[in-house]
Parts: sequence; C-alpha cells; structure tokens
Amino acid sequence: MTDSNRHFSTRAIWAGEPKDLHRKDVATPVHHSVTFSYEDVDEWFDVALDQRPGYIYSRNKNPTVRPLELTMRALEGAGEAVSFSTGMAAISNTLFTLLAPGDRVVGIKDTYGGTNKIFTEFLPRAGVDVALCDTLDFDAIEAEIRKGCKLLYLETPTNPTLKVVDIARLSRVAHEHHALVVVDNTFATPVNQRPLDLGADLVLYSATKYLNGHSDAMGGILCGPKDIVDRVFHYREINGATLHANSAYMILRGLKTLELRIQRHNENAQRVAEYLHEHDKVEAVFYPGLPDHHNHTIAKAQMDGYGGMLSFSLKGDFEQVKRLLPRMRLAHKAASLGSVSTLVGPPRVTSHVELTAEERRAAGIPESLIRYSAGIENAKDLIADLEQALAGI
Ligand SMILES: *Cc1c(COP(=O)(O)O)cnc(C)c1O
Repeated sequence: MTDSNRHFSTRAIWAGEPKDLHRKDVATPVHHSVTFSYEDVDEWFDVALDQRPGYIYSRNKNPTVRPLELTMRALEGAGEAVSFSTGMAAISNTLFTLLAPGDRVVGIKDTYGGTNKIFTEFLPRAGVDVALCDTLDFDAIEAEIRKGCKLLYLETPTNPTLKVVDIARLSRVAHEHHALVVVDNTFATPVNQRPLDLGADLVLYSATKYLNGHSDAMGGILCGPKDIVDRVFHYREINGATLHANSAYMILRGLKTLELRIQRHNENAQRVAEYLHEHDKVEAVFYPGLPDHHNHTIAKAQMDGYGGMLSFSLKGDFEQVKRLLPRMRLAHKAASLGSVSTLVGPPRVTSHVELTAEERRAAGIPESLIRYSAGIENAKDLIADLEQALAGI
C-alpha cells in the first residue's frame, strides 16, 4: 500500500516519518545540529548536489523539518512541500518568487491583514501591479483575470466575516488565462478543504494556527507541483526564512491529531453558531455552516466541514463588546486562532484596529463584531459560558 491509498489520519501519522529512525525511536527527534559532517568527500559532494539523500546545513534542509514537509506533501497529495519560519514567510516568499516587476496579480480585499500589506505596500514597491477585488464579486474577479495576470491569490473562508470564495470556478478562469492559483487554506485546513483537488496550483498555510494547533509554535507551509515549490524553496534557502527544528517537531506532532481536532472544532463551532444565531442579544452570526450564510451552497460543495472559526456581532455598540469579553471565562481574549483552547477577539482592536470606523463599515466589519475561534472543549461548557456572559450584559 502506498501513502496515497491510505486515509488522511493514517498519512498524518506515518507518511513523513523517516524509515531509518535511529535506536528504534518512534518519534522524529529534534535535530538541533546546524551542520552535518562527512568523512567521505565524494558522499559530501553528492549530497550537496542533491544526488544522494542527506543534509548539509540547516538553513537549507534539516532532518526534523523535512519529515514535516513530507507529511504535508502526503496530506495534500502534492508533488512537493516546503516549510517556513511563519505563515507570512510562506506567503511573502511564494509571492516574491513567482512575481517579477511588470507582472500583474489579482487578489481579493478580504485577505489576512499581513497579506493585504504585501499586496498594498510591498508588491507595488517591487513594480508588481496589484488588483484587489471585492471578495464575493466573482464576476468582477473574473473580469480582472481576463485583463491578464500572472497569479490569482485567494483565501477562503476569510477573516473575520467568514466569506466563502468559489475556488473551482475562479481556478478554471485563471487557467484559461494561464495564471497560477494560490490559496491560503489556513482557516479550513486540509481536513475540511483541499484546494489542489478543486483546481488550485498551490496551497499555503500559517502552520501557527490549526496545523500546530496548540498556540505554541509558529510556522508556514507551501504545497504544490515540484517544479514551482522547488523555486520557492530556492528563494527561501537564500533569503533565510527557515523553520526551526523545534517548531517543526511541534507542528509534526500537531499534525498527528489534526483530523481528530478538526472534527471537534467543526462540531463545536457549528453548535456555538447555532446557539448564538437564536440569541436575542446577538445581531448576526457569520459561519459557513449556517443555512443563511451568504455562500452556504458553495461552502457545502467545496468543504468537508465548515471549520472552527465564526464571528458574531452584538446588538448595540462596541461598549457591549467591552462588557461581554471580560465575562467570558472559557476563552482567552487574545489574537490568533486555531488552538485547542477557545480564543476570542474583536476585529476592532485586533486585525482591523488601524482602520477608521468608516473604513470598517466599508469592509463590512460591524463595530460590535467578535471573532470566535472555537477550541476543542466540550460544546456544552462553551455554550453555558456564553449564556452566562450574555446574560450579564
Ligand atoms: C495567521 C495567518 C497568517 C499569517 O501567519 P503567521 O504564522 O502569523 O505569520 C496568514 N494567513 C492567515 C489566514 C492567517 O490566519
């Protein structure tokens, strides 16, 4: 049986583990070594030219980092995978490898805040023409692709209002115009959504979120065809945004429980979303698993689960948010997402803090919006906690 015949959870545990672990280890050790020594110069030469397996220097490749990349490659069914020090390093290294001065890139307005800065601040400075479209106006996105572009960049579901973008439809149009399609799949994870199967060329992650899953390591991953991923690897090995072996170990360990955790994240978020949807102090709930979500049909078709992320707005103004958050006991009031523990934060003081109220309104972000990253606690406890917190405001 080859890796690709095995099921997701089996691949997550076995696919990347080296076959030659020393001293009968059952877990990949953390290789802190920066460099690797050779008595045989011919062997050294062959390894340096990638003609024999082995390691030379940990900025390029490391025996703890590589098993993580092999695991992600197997989970995505991709030709190759490369890791990075953070999710933003995965995004910036990918874009700066694939785009050159004079190129044009089409993207959406609702990307992660850091990604948006790459599009609005750093790519234009490098002579790249950027067209950012309304996330849900697929006709407008298609029209921008038809004007010609090198790359289409998507993210779905989006932060913080969980907009769902049709990956298959937009990939088809992009390919008619010879553009590469890159999808940030951080919110969905490969358990819930596999962009490569839907037609995208490259899928990338902030591994800091669900892949690691415990809010204790940062990293990034890119998966796709070997020729393209190798080019991004080359950019990264020279520019140096390498993942550390310690973090690789943590993320590799996280992957072993990814499917189990995501099943629970999905279940908890669905139950919390349904509870909030019926609550009379709640104005609106944004969750792809609710039948009244603006793109529930597309979500249903392209996702196997709706994910652990949701957001909701309260009736009233931001003062209500200030009253509610301190009353919540089973939620860290913190940035980030995708952890075993529930995390909440208002976009008004996190991702969208630098915008004016007017700009937030234009972006469709209510002032009283709260983003909720459902953890893997018991859903009854999470709902009871929300119940008592909402009762107090
Ligand atoms: C967090 C996040 C990133 C950036 O990842 P870092 O690991 O923080 O650099 C990119 N995209 C999405 C969707 C994210 O949530």
